[in-house]
Amino acid sequence: MATQRLTAQVGKITDFSTPLAFNTTCRNCGDNVFFYRDENGGCAMFDYPGKPWPIHACWERYRIHVTRSVAQELASLGFNGKAYFRPRVKTLKNRNEAFLEVRGFVDLGNYINAKKFPSNRRGKTCDFHEMRFVPFDDPARYYPILFPTYLDDAMSRYSMHEVECQWLKHSGRWNCFLTSFRRLRGQKRADRVVKDIVSWSNCGYCGEDLTAGIRWGFDTDYHAECSFCGNARGDLDTTRFREYLAKCQKIARRNKRK
Ligand SMILES: [Zn+2]
Ligand SMILES: [Zn+2]
Repeated sequence: MATQRLTAQVGKITDFSTPLAFNTTCRNCGDNVFFYRDENGGCAMFDYPGKPWPIHACWERYRIHVTRSVAQELASLGFNGKAYFRPRVKTLKNRNEAFLEVRGFVDLGNYINAKKFPSNRRGKTCDFHEMRFVPFDDPARYYPILFPTYLDDAMSRYSMHEVECQWLKHSGRWNCFLTSFRRLRGQKRADRVVKDIVSWSNCGYCGEDLTAGIRWGFDTDYHAECSFCGNARGDLDTTRFREYLAKCQKIARRNKRK
């Protein structure tokens, strides 16, 4: 009975078409290794994830046994062919750390934790999702990283990335915002870097320095704005508000001439 269930789990590792990132110990030699399966079902075990993606020696020789032991371990973590759960410790901002640069993978969990960052109480703003990002060098913990909801597909579960983030304080709390990322694809290669996901430090409308502790938030296009501009913008989106500002400037110039 137990053997039958295990066989089913072994099948699932290679049959299922979603990516899987799993840090484990090689049952054959006891080394700390990294098992990865891409979305096409191809899988391998690496000494460590990232360039040059060195294939673990036991994988080449004992592929079947290694796959079986990984399947066994995943089954013990409740792996259902799509996901497994492993308890991890949340990593918060270190003192004096403004930026975060880390290579790792997207974990299962409160990946869909929606957040908004308004600059005022009433204005329209944009939506963020929070993912649990596990660093390759320490899979016992994770970073809560916020990214725009339009990146939901790019930040799929178990996908591997090199990310750059910025810690920003909003309403007295530190948040870790994704600013650029590059998807890593097994031993083959990495995707191009996607940059400028959130722009911060100055208000996109008036240029006010937002690091001085004033109230700020994001507009509808993930551009930072001060609360003064945010209040003036109200429910308008970025484009409409820029049009409105241009019109105001035109009127001001005309009145000056008179
Ligand atoms: Zn080994
Ligand atoms: Zn402003």
